[in-house]
Amino acid sequence: MSHQAKALVLHCIDFRFIPGIKNYLHKQMGLKGQYDKVAVAGAAKNLADPAKPEDQEFILRQIDISKRLHAITDLYLINHRDCGAYGADLAADAVAETERHTSDLRAARKLVSQRFPDVTVHLLLAKLGGEHQVMFESVS
Ligand SMILES: [Zn+2]
Repeated sequence: MSHQAKALVLHCIDFRFIPGIKNYLHKQMGLKGQYDKVAVAGAAKNLADPAKPEDQEFILRQIDISKRLHAITDLYLINHRDCGAYGADLAADAVAETERHTSDLRAARKLVSQRFPDVTVHLLLAKLGGEHQVMFESVS
């Protein structure tokens, strides 16, 4: 193995969250320069409740590749509130939104853990704050 990364990060394509996620990974998680990244609309939804089965396969394949090529040990699944992939109706109900994301993130972790038992999966739910800030809640 010539080069290793610590983690693979999966997050949504939503441009509003990109700078905040990057900042969080660099400054809070200490992952600067040490992670692979996959960005797809809906993030963990593609694992837990994919629009098409091939969407789920695509993500699992990226994890497998990241593991084989870069020996990652950790996976960060980052969903976010007000996500277009989940629809505006869900975003209008904060309680339902929290439940849905928590449920999907946990289902995604279960799926990944079954396929890759040696990968530690971290679950995060992001939301926009004021002045382009992004805040993160850890999901257990
Ligand atoms: Zn989104």
